Parts: sequence; structure tokens; C-alpha cells
Amino acid sequence: MIAPREAEALQHEMKNLMIEREAADERGLAMLDASSAAEAALIEIRAADAEAARELAAAEATLRDAEKEADRAIAELSVARADLIASIDASDLATYERLRANHAGVAIAEIKHGVCGGCHMDISASELDAIKRLPADQFAECPNCTRLLLR
Ligand SMILES: [Zn+2]
Repeated sequence: MIAPREAEALQHEMKNLMIEREAADERGLAMLDASSAAEAALIEIRAADAEAARELAAAEATLRDAEKEADRAIAELSVARADLIASIDASDLATYERLRANHAGVAIAEIKHGVCGGCHMDISASELDAIKRLPADQFAECPNCTRLLLR
């Protein structure tokens, strides 16, 4: 036999437990929703990862091809350069190599609108005139940087 007060307390406790259970059910459903959303996101990420890996492999193959092509072009140009060097007078070549070393790889410059294309300094009208009057077999030099000038 249960006392009425005890029965009332048990009923109250059962009501609280039912409320707690409903809240727990709701939390469980929300967690299931979150879990399936996370699983869907994971599937997308795995697909994106696989696609990125394929793109990386393709890019690496393209890079390897480009490097092979560049190496081939360099080898070809080296042969052509060696052939050209063989036809240049040794002292002219020495002058060229000295200027190239002194001017960050650029030994020859073009005169554009009265300006040296190497040092970008103005060449005076009288200096330009003197350069124009040089014999064809003589190098013209920039009066500022001493690079050889194309006439
Ligand atoms: Zn110059």
C-alpha cells in the first residue's frame, strides 16, 4: 500500500522523467541530423580530394613535359650558341663576355630616341653623331655604361 503523498511524489517524478525523455529524444534526433549532414559533407570532401589528386597528377605531368621541352630547347640553343661563338673573333667575344659579366648579362643595347637601352641615360646629339660616323666594322659604345650599341 502506497501513501497518497508518496504516490503524488512518484507521479511528479514520472512526469519529470517523461519531460527529460522527450528532450533526450529531441537531442538524439538533432544529433542524427547533424551526423547525416556531416557524413554527406565528408562524402563531398572525399570526392573533392580525389578530384584534386587527379588535377595534381595532370599538372605534374604537364610540368614534366614542359621541363623536358625546356631542356630540349636549352640543349638546342646551346649547340646553336656554340656554333655562333665559333664564328666570332676571339677578342670581340672576350669584350662581349666581359661586358656581359659587368652588366648583369646584358652586353648589347639598342639606342631608342637618343637613350641607351641598357643604362637608360641620354646620349647627347654630338655623341650620337660620332656613333653614326663610326666605321661599320667598329663597335659603338655607350658613353655612360660602355655597353655595345646597336646602330
Ligand atoms: Zn648605356
